[in-house]
Amino acid sequence: MVCFCFLVDQKKVVRRSRPVAGTCGRCRHGATVADMQTLTRFCCIPFYCKSWKAIVCTFCGRVLKSYT
Ligand SMILES: [Zn+2]
Repeated sequence: MVCFCFLVDQKKVVRRSRPVAGTCGRCRHGATVADMQTLTRFCCIPFYCKSWKAIVCTFCGRVLKSYT
């Protein structure tokens, strides 16, 4: 039996974060600088992983600025 599985999903993980000066333009809450990690999985097997830094809102999670 052959089972085809074309399931690709991407997961954003915040590995570390610390407060930073700045506010969110949408909800006016504080911003935090975070070490992000994007994990791309194919059939539940991680095959691509990217680490990046971003300034995100602590409240709504909006990415205000990202550094690659
Ligand atoms: Zn916000």
